[in-house]
Order: sequence, then structure tokens, then C-alpha cells
Amino acid sequence: MSRQMIIFMLFVSYVLLINSPLLLARIADLPARPWIDELASALGMTGLVIILLEFVLSGRFKSITAPVGIDIIMRSHQLMGRVVIILLLLHPVLYSLPNNLLLPWDTYLSQTTQLDSLDTITGLLAWIGLALIVSLSLLRDAEQSNYESWRRTHLLLAISTAALALVHAAGAGRYTEFASVNIIWTGLALLALLAVLHVYLMVPLQQRSHPYLIESVNQVANRTWCLVLKPERGPVMDYLAGQFVWLKFSGPFWSLQEHPFSISSHPGNRQTVEFTIKEFGDFTSKIGRLVIGSRVYVDGPYGHFTKKQRRAEGIMLMAGGVGIAPVISILRQLVEESYPFPVVLISCHATPADQPYSDELAMLSTRLNMQIINMAAFDAENSGCLQGQLSQQIIAAHVPEKPASWLYFVCGPAGMMDTAEKSLLQLAVPLKQIVSERFRYDTRSVSRSSRRIIYSLCGILTVTACVIVVFSWHISIS
Ligand SMILES: Cc1cc2nc3c(=O)[nH]c(=O)nc-3n(C[C@H](O)[C@H](O)[C@H](O)COP(=O)(O)OP(=O)(O)OC[C@H]3O[C@@H](n4cnc5c(N)ncnc54)[C@H](O)[C@@H]3O)c2cc1C
Repeated sequence: MSRQMIIFMLFVSYVLLINSPLLLARIADLPARPWIDELASALGMTGLVIILLEFVLSGRFKSITAPVGIDIIMRSHQLMGRVVIILLLLHPVLYSLPNNLLLPWDTYLSQTTQLDSLDTITGLLAWIGLALIVSLSLLRDAEQSNYESWRRTHLLLAISTAALALVHAAGAGRYTEFASVNIIWTGLALLALLAVLHVYLMVPLQQRSHPYLIESVNQVANRTWCLVLKPERGPVMDYLAGQFVWLKFSGPFWSLQEHPFSISSHPGNRQTVEFTIKEFGDFTSKIGRLVIGSRVYVDGPYGHFTKKQRRAEGIMLMAGGVGIAPVISILRQLVEESYPFPVVLISCHATPADQPYSDELAMLSTRLNMQIINMAAFDAENSGCLQGQLSQQIIAAHVPEKPASWLYFVCGPAGMMDTAEKSLLQLAVPLKQIVSERFRYDTRSVSRSSRRIIYSLCGILTVTACVIVVFSWHISIS
């Protein structure tokens, strides 16, 4: 089955799952209620499905991440989190305000909402949990907070919020008396549980059965290190040039201290696997102090920053900073397969001292039909680098006459990637020929591919909005 077909099927399944409780509840023959109450129910049910499916989106299932791309899945996860908060903000407000004014002496809101205290408290706590999850996620980057603490809090809040919301729906939900609706809630809750067990139990257990050892850690440029791992037994895992893995450096298997890194070696090397790591935060700044011979657990490979199943009569690679990590893997692989077509590498760094592998790149260029353009934003004098940053002018100078026949790989900081993707599209390169890897899952990115995610999510939300309107309208007039 083609990748497009799989993506389409995943998309349709997601839309169906989101709307499944409403579609099943629509069959229920309950006495009519004001449409606003039905709308409130519909928003609550849809919000709860989205919460449960958020676990699946972040569950690192290769059958989902491989065709779609884990960056796209994670950005969809972030965007759907924002959608759910709007739905669930409206859910209690629509119920209570038009018909019943909030009463100051009604501490548990039981007279206002006609719910018992358990249903009111679980609903309120779930709502507070959700508000905390979204605000902590929004604050994470702005505050530069510790990633592991955030992840632990995020996980605990997400599990408690989902559990509270399920208890609330079971007690307060009008449609939970129907077996079919209950089956959907149970099925989705089990799916969410499976996703959590997959990431925090099954994957760690699997990693432990095939540990790696640190063979060497060497500095290869300013604040940039090359980490080499070798399997404790057997060969290196199968992977494609350009893919990445999550690395966990010893610790108990429930530890959340793990980091995604692109593989820099090529798949033909079955003895060792290599990574290029730039000092960035609390973990990466200690990379040079890792103990040789200590154990590392690997989860992967993931990612679609690869040449597989993509036709190309030439390849242009644009790397910014440590974005060179997956790019050098692809170049090493091209040499292995004696790639006959032209290759252009534009390698951008802050200063010439920040560029790793310059000697190896020069050597690789002699074994491929390859042109290298090194760029440095500062101190470029007498270094052989072009002074400045990547621009449409530089890209245009190297795009071939028939741009659609080449493949374009882009990996680097967000600003550089946005410039590269935008310029390529303006130079008549089709979007499907641009392959990119982002090292930060950032919904604020303005790239064309992010806009494509937003358009797809708008499609999902439009269908869902139609189902919600039809549901509320039908029930209230029937
Ligand atoms: C697909 C992918 C491939 C990557 N490849 C490389 C590479 O080859 N070389 C390299 O130097 N860097 C790479 N990175 C970035 C690298 O993962 C982060 O720089 C590193 O995890 C930062 O950890 P820290 O503790 O030093 O900093 P922190 O301050 O803890 O984290 C800084 C930021 O890094 C990101 N991050 C940290 N931990 C994780 C995690 N477990 N999962 C997802 N994001 C996380 C978050 O955005 C966080 O805000 C890659 C990232 C991704 C998503």
C-alpha cells in the first residue's frame, strides 16, 4: 500500500473515532432536550474522545509515525490539545448558563447543574487538569524549564485528567446508559492505556533486551560531540540513513530521561552506530563526560527523513548547525551505493569552528558528483566559507533547471528551515520533493508543511463540527 493511501486511511480512522460516540448516541431514542444542552453534551463527548486519542498520538506507534512523520504527529497532538480546551471550556458553560444562573451558595454546583457532588467534582478537577496541561505546555519553551520535569508532570496530569473525565462521563453522561456508547468509551480508554504501556513499559523492556555500550565520545566541533555506540551483542539495529532514535543513558527502565538524536552513521556499518550531538541544555551539555563502556538503551529507528521510495535525479541537502547529523548519514549512504547523480550540500553554521566533519565532507565530495557550499554567519574570513546566512538567492543559484526532478533535504534551526522550505516552493519545487526534519516540535512554525497540518486538522474539525450540529439539531427536534 502506498504511503499516501496509509495516511488517508489513518486520517479517516481518526475522523471516525472522534465522531464515534456522537454517531452511536444519535441512534438513542431519548426524550427531547433543549438543543443547547445537546450541544453541550456533544462538545463534552467529542472533547473526551480527543483527550483519549491524544495518548495514541503520543504513543510512538511505528505504524502511525512511520508513514506520517513523528514531527507531524507531535504537532497534531499539540494542536488538538488546544482544540480540546476550547470544546471543554464551552461544555459546562453551555449547560449551566442559559437555563440556570450560578448560585453563590451552591458550593458543589449540584443545584445549578443538577449533578451529584461526585460528578461535579470530577468534572471540575478534569477541567482544571486540562487547563494545567495546556498552560504548562505553552509555558515550557518560554520558561526554558527542565524537559524531564515537564514530561513527568504532563504524563501524570494527562492520566489523572483522562481518568477523572471518564468517571465524570460515566456518572453525568446522558448517553452512557447505552451499551454501544459505553463500549466506545471502554475501547478508547483501553487504547489510551495501551499507548501509555507501550511507551513506558513495552518499549523500555524491549530496549533492555538489546542494550548498547558507549565506545567513544569525541569532540568534533565547537560544543559538538560524536558519540559512538556498539551493541552489547549482535549487530546494530536495521535503520535507514537519516532516521533517528531515542537514547536512554542507563537508569531504571521507568526513567523519563531520554532524548531523540539522528543517526549519523550509515546502515552498512553493522558494528557501531554514531550520533552527532550539540550541547544545548542540561543533558547535552554533559555529553562529553559520559563514561566509556556504560550502557545505553535505544528506541527506534523512527522518522521519514530518508531517500527511501523517493525518486531523484539529483539531491540538494541543506543543513544548519547540528542538522548536519542526519545529512552526513545520507551522504555516507550515497557513497556506499555509488550514487551517480549530482549532489549539492549547503552547510550553514554560526562560525567555521562550529562545523563538524569538514575533512570527511571534502573527501566524500571526491567520491560523489558533489558540490559543497559552506556558510558561516560570523568569522568567515580566510575559512573558505561564504559569509552570511542561507537565503533564497543562494538556494536559487544551485536549484537545477528542472527543480521537480531533484529531492531536497532540509534540517536545521526553525528559521533556517522556514527560509529553505519557502524559497524552494517559490522556485517551483513541489512540496512532495522537500523532505525535512525538525529538532523541535513547534506549532508556531510558519512553514508550508505546518500549514498543511493545520489545513488537515481544519478538515477534521469541520467534519466534527458538522456531526456535532446534526447531533444537537436532530436530538432536540426529535
Ligand atoms: C527528531 C529529532 C532528532 C534530533 N536529532 C538531534 C541530533 O542529531 N543532534 C542533536 O544535537 N540534537 C538533536 N535533536 C535535539 C535534541 O533531542 C535536544 O537538543 C536534546 O534532547 C536537548 O536535551 P537537553 O537536556 O540538553 O536540553 P533540555 O533543556 O532538556 O531540552 C531542550 C529542548 O529539547 C527538546 N527535548 C529535550 N528532550 C526531549 C525529548 N525526550 N523528546 C523530544 N524533545 C526533547 C525540547 O524541545 C526541549 O525544550 C533532535 C531532536 C529531534 C526531535
